[in-house]
Amino acid sequence: MKPERLPGPDAAMTHDVIVIGAGPAGMAAAATAAGLGLRTVVLDEQPSAGGQIYRDVGRVVAEQPRVAQLLGADYTHGVSLVQALERSTAERRLGTLVWDVARDLTVTVLQEGRAAQLHAPQLIAATGAMERASPIPGWTLPGVMNAGAAQIALKSAGAVPAGRIVLAGAGPLLLLVACQLLAAGAAPAAVVETAPAGNRLAALRHAGGALRAWSYLAKGLKMMRRLRAARVPWFTRAENLRVTGTDRAAGLAFVAAGRAQELAADTVLLHHGVVPNTQLSRLLHVHHVWSDEQLAWQVVVDAHGQTSLPGLRVAGDGVSIAGALAAEASGTLAALGAAHALGRIDARELARRSAPFEQALKAEQQIRPFLDALYRPPRFIAEPADETLVCRCEEVTAGRVREMARLGCQGPNQTKFFSRCGMGPCQGRMCGTVVSQILAAEHGKGVAEVGAYRIRAPLKPVPLAALASLAGAAPAETAASSSDKEDVT
Ligand SMILES: Cc1cc2nc3c(=O)[nH]c(=O)nc-3n(C[C@H](O)[C@H](O)[C@H](O)COP(=O)(O)OP(=O)(O)OC[C@H]3O[C@@H](n4cnc5c(N)ncnc54)[C@H](O)[C@@H]3O)c2cc1C
Repeated sequence: MKPERLPGPDAAMTHDVIVIGAGPAGMAAAATAAGLGLRTVVLDEQPSAGGQIYRDVGRVVAEQPRVAQLLGADYTHGVSLVQALERSTAERRLGTLVWDVARDLTVTVLQEGRAAQLHAPQLIAATGAMERASPIPGWTLPGVMNAGAAQIALKSAGAVPAGRIVLAGAGPLLLLVACQLLAAGAAPAAVVETAPAGNRLAALRHAGGALRAWSYLAKGLKMMRRLRAARVPWFTRAENLRVTGTDRAAGLAFVAAGRAQELAADTVLLHHGVVPNTQLSRLLHVHHVWSDEQLAWQVVVDAHGQTSLPGLRVAGDGVSIAGALAAEASGTLAALGAAHALGRIDARELARRSAPFEQALKAEQQIRPFLDALYRPPRFIAEPADETLVCRCEEVTAGRVREMARLGCQGPNQTKFFSRCGMGPCQGRMCGTVVSQILAAEHGKGVAEVGAYRIRAPLKPVPLAALASLAGAAPAETAASSSDKEDVT
């Protein structure tokens, strides 16, 4: 293992605060930190600020008002955050991929083909969420995408998939994308919901919190009414999903209300909720917990996003899934925490400034238990059939993962070592959650006991030339990450 370099007076600090991610959490964090006079930089691999929900919002509102209108007020709200960031003194480095962070908080980036390193005593990771994998037979065929990917095409290129579109899965984003496609003139051929029957009863237990967040309920009902009014065929409690077709998707087969269905489709959009993107927090070995409610790993943080690694804060959906407005509040709280840690505000000022954002965060979190229960993914997503591919990069099936468990692999890292599952370019980002779930079920243990993939840099593939461009600067610390090299649990 490489010796750790801890932040101290000897380390050359390029900034006071580095924020990774320019979604609602990152934009709010950067504008707040800069507003308190801290030398702040915000990094994002995307070419414009906005994150997932407000992707490219500045350009879309200015240049494509029709697209902005159909994406709705929840989307255009992002303009105010982008403008606040632009007005602030925070340095914006967009089109900048963070591919390594050392435990001394040195951040290594790839910008315009070259690698560079930044260093600050306070680092706020606001790297957001990603869509949960939906491993069903045929999900790797051309013509199958995540529903969020179709939304990205709409936001960034004003494009919709051609032909017949079938959406399948569970979650508010599924309905939102269906409505957005409808508004864009690409009426879905069907919506196939997979949420099991028991979900409604489980959700009712959280009706109190949901009623206090009635505006979200109203939005949900409005989306359902819109799809019903457009007579979009709607199936519920679907099981045994399978994408049909040999070279590309030709349709979706499933069973609903005891009847086998097969719908023709040119594009199948899958969605089973979003999970925190924990690659960076895993790389830094901070404490995580498994949430049985969200069926996902969450980062353990205090009220100001502080993790178990001093100086590293995590904000937004990268901690736990709570939505864009919660992300905005938690980004602000993380920046206030950073300002306090750096001595810019005292404890009293921290408490005074934090109070409204803590309240906002709490209010936004009220609906979560209801949504988590209502849209809990069906078991066949967590424990796919043996023949289903789970690791797309290395083409490893669920059956092979089970075989690894039977051969004695106790966790995902051993499984990776012996089967290459999770060893491809995505570094297990896609399959990590489901591999841990399969192993846990096979061993009759909890997911927390089985653990998660150990993550190593680079977080995403980087060209060798970029590594070489660092060589002059810090030879011993270029290609290697601070994470240890051991790969087997
Ligand atoms: C595909 C998708 C679509 C969504 N659409 C909606 C929607 O329409 N409505 C809604 O209410 N919610 C939506 N959500 C949920 C939504 O993401 C969140 O509630 C909200 O955007 C979370 O904000 P955030 O700031 O935590 O993260 P995000 O908005 O996700 O921002 C994270 C940012 O970090 C950047 N980043 C991540 N890793 C790196 C790295 N290594 N280097 C550099 N930059 C990095 C990303 O490029 C991104 O811009 C969507 C989620 C997904 C996954």
